[in-house]
Amino acid sequence: MTTAFFSDERCFWHGGGNYAFTLPVAGLVQPLAAGLPENPETKRRLRNLIEVTGLSRHLQMRGAEPAARADLLRVHPERYLSAFQAASDAGGGELGLRAPFGAGGYEIAALSAGLATAALRSVLKGEARNAYALSRPPGHHCTADFPNGFCLLNNIAVAIRAAKAEGLVRRVAVIDWDVHHGNGTEAIFYDDPGVLTISLHQDRNYPLDTGGVEAMGAGAGLGANLNLPLPPGCGHASYQRAMERVVLPALDRFRPEAIVVACGFDAAAVDPLGRMLATAETFRMLTRLVMQAADRLCDGRLTLVHEGGYSEVYVPFCGHAVLEELSAAPVTAPDPMAAILARRQPDARFDAFVCDWIDDAARRLGL
Ligand code: ZN
Repeated sequence: MTTAFFSDERCFWHGGGNYAFTLPVAGLVQPLAAGLPENPETKRRLRNLIEVTGLSRHLQMRGAEPAARADLLRVHPERYLSAFQAASDAGGGELGLRAPFGAGGYEIAALSAGLATAALRSVLKGEARNAYALSRPPGHHCTADFPNGFCLLNNIAVAIRAAKAEGLVRRVAVIDWDVHHGNGTEAIFYDDPGVLTISLHQDRNYPLDTGGVEAMGAGAGLGANLNLPLPPGCGHASYQRAMERVVLPALDRFRPEAIVVACGFDAAAVDPLGRMLATAETFRMLTRLVMQAADRLCDGRLTLVHEGGYSEVYVPFCGHAVLEELSAAPVTAPDPMAAILARRQPDARFDAFVCDWIDDAARRLGL
């Protein structure tokens, strides 16, 4: 049994919008060649790095079909999909907030969702021990009908609903360690007791008005949505504490049949859209802990779907560490920033402050 890696060059061709970083180009904002921070380089360089080190030869390198309209309709209303497809056919545009797309953007977004769907299916059918989908555009900010934060379709939600419709799984836990709140996934499953959504994120980063501890689900889904907002500046120790004090107890309580990770790398210390201090070793540790939970609870069934992460240089090393851990392959890509980032970790006083912060949140979450 191996690790499956799902990707497609066409996902790197998604683009659109005239932005300089996150600002629309206008007035005094000069155009920027790189455009939005969500550009293909971080993802393409991750795939390149696993080929250069040889890690790819230890993975099942796979592609997938785009998600079918019927699969998308389990999450997104016809009205939204029709508007998205029409704008995409007409050359591109923007329907929500900071989620532009070019010509053919609809098809590429459906392919991104298709990679996530195929990855989850491969694990649930026993074709792979675990799987990673290098989806792009990302998905976790997209609600049923409001694309935002670079996300046009909610890849993970499409994948889970497809797997449920195929009778492959009933109870799924989603752990979102992207530095931003997984507001779209939260909204889609907010009243669904069969999907536990847990988001670790930087407090009041993006979106500004969601992600509080008090948002715990509704109706039958009350208690199946957990938010752990963290203060800016958290490093390796705080992420480990968050897993051990909140995420792992929540998984044990929920007893999922499969675990899906919204795997963003923008909590990394050098990310332009986050203010955290995680390192490649942090992402390796997160992966190891969630693998142990999956082994304990659901025969190891674990699927990771790529979300954010905007350091073109560092994301590939973080992703490589995750894939090393998933596959147990004897291939490494030593972190070229390890020494400097080790010296940038918070001091013991800050870690103690965050420890109390997490304990307080855990109590409020009933954990
Ligand atoms: Zn993010």
